Amino acid sequence: MRASKFFMPTLKETPSEAEVPSHIYLLRAGFIRKVASGIYDFLPLGFRVLKKIENIVRKHMDEAGALELLLPILTPAELWKETGRWDVYGKELFRLKDRHDRDFALGPTHEETITDLVRKNIRSYKDLPFNFYQIQTKFRDEARPRYGLIRGREFIMKDAYSFDTSEQMAIKSYELMKETYHRIFKELGLNYLMVEADVGAIGGKFSHEFVVLAANGEAHIVYCENCGYAANVETASYEFELDRLPPEEEKPLEKVYTPNVKSVEEVAKFLGVDIKKVVKTLIYILDDGTAVAVAIRGDREVNETKLLNYFKALDAHLASPQELEELGLVEGFVGPIGLDIPVYVDRSVEDLHNFVVGANEKDYHYINVNIPRDFKPVEFVDFSTARKGDPCPICKSPLEETTGLEVGHIFLLGTKYSQAMRAYFVDKDGKEKPIVMGCYGIGISRLIAASVEQNHDKNGIIWPESIAPFRLHILALNTKDKNIMQTCEKIYEKAKQKGIDVLLDDRDISAGAKFKDADLIGIPYRIVVGKALKEGKIELQRRDGTLKELVDVSLTDNILEKIKG
Ligand SMILES: [Zn+2]
Repeated sequence: MRASKFFMPTLKETPSEAEVPSHIYLLRAGFIRKVASGIYDFLPLGFRVLKKIENIVRKHMDEAGALELLLPILTPAELWKETGRWDVYGKELFRLKDRHDRDFALGPTHEETITDLVRKNIRSYKDLPFNFYQIQTKFRDEARPRYGLIRGREFIMKDAYSFDTSEQMAIKSYELMKETYHRIFKELGLNYLMVEADVGAIGGKFSHEFVVLAANGEAHIVYCENCGYAANVETASYEFELDRLPPEEEKPLEKVYTPNVKSVEEVAKFLGVDIKKVVKTLIYILDDGTAVAVAIRGDREVNETKLLNYFKALDAHLASPQELEELGLVEGFVGPIGLDIPVYVDRSVEDLHNFVVGANEKDYHYINVNIPRDFKPVEFVDFSTARKGDPCPICKSPLEETTGLEVGHIFLLGTKYSQAMRAYFVDKDGKEKPIVMGCYGIGISRLIAASVEQNHDKNGIIWPESIAPFRLHILALNTKDKNIMQTCEKIYEKAKQKGIDVLLDDRDISAGAKFKDADLIGIPYRIVVGKALKEGKIELQRRDGTLKELVDVSLTDNILEKIKG
């Protein structure tokens, strides 16, 4: 490709809308353009990267025996209503009506659509198993679209769905996809972690996320360097047994005057006790209006995902001072003793002795509280957010913490969708059984951003070879110099003959501007043809800075062989 005939509108300035490196560089280097909030054009450079990622994903999915198909983007509400997700999905589902006033949704995922296809066409165990996949545009009406391709409202996904006759077989399909995902992310040249994840709105039995490590990531991960355990903090548990205070003799319960002392830090300081011995009691209002109390040790934080999962709620919020007042409670002095609201106790409080709680009375706390003497929890539950330094739940080494971007997510769905939609088959024993499903997503357009988050410097993008828009960038530094242009043309033709994806910068602009653009665009190999040609030399460079040398122009063939790889 000749740059003079190519469309790569680079920008000198950082557009004000862009905050993170991937967004900044993809805009500046002319890979994408914004159309509206969370909606982008892929320009020719961006489209080339997109296609390369798609092809790697497709190759490995095909090798794993998955079958590619294409489902509609526009999906009828009836299907979503069958599984209850018409309501569950809430505002994130893009909804629209046709001319007959019938409801439709733009698909954010396709469990319903594919299950409908399968239930209409599969009768017997002989018809199974299957794994279907598609690479397609998806929609999600994000409350806050941001970071360019990282969180958009329209994006490109690979989604796959497996259908098996038993859970045992479904687990095999799941394991095969897990291996396939490792192959895909390795070939994409990414530094990533596979982590245990929350099943969220999709539902199901268990799931793993593939997270690209990045400073600006939205996923918070804890991991163990010793045994390889890694989990999203939303689901990670930690080994409470190792973090307990030594047992004590129970002392008599006592109510103490604590004027204006509200936060756990203030209480610990005022009473001169370890913060671990101050138990905070948080009142949550669930989406059905029920109030629940959660008691947790002062040094731990409640994880809302664990909370929602435990109460099977879609939404919950901490009671406001006004809501507390309506419940007859005083902000800063809420406690579990004599409370009318059911009290669920985090495992961090299990076996804790002589601790401090609010007395449900302004300016008073109880000290020397003990379970079950002073109050009876409904249950001990793991509500705590895991954090750096917590003991690993597998090997007990201290956990590390990092952030990343989720680029892949796999779920063992079980029979959640097949039962709701009556996707049954007749088994060997003649009995009708629900098909056991799994689903497997990869954020194709998000991967472009994830790769840039991981591969850039202050001058621009540094693409991994496998997904770079071009492999070789030839810079003709002076287009008025016939010798330079003839040499560039020769190298360009030879590179094309060898099947190398090559971009020749033959534009009539300054050498400085060409170098700036080349750094910004980030093509892995570069051949610079300039003044040194008078001495018969051209310069071979790598964008990642690992190579920069003058070589004899007569060695062009050898150089191109090396670049071809
Ligand atoms: Zn471990």
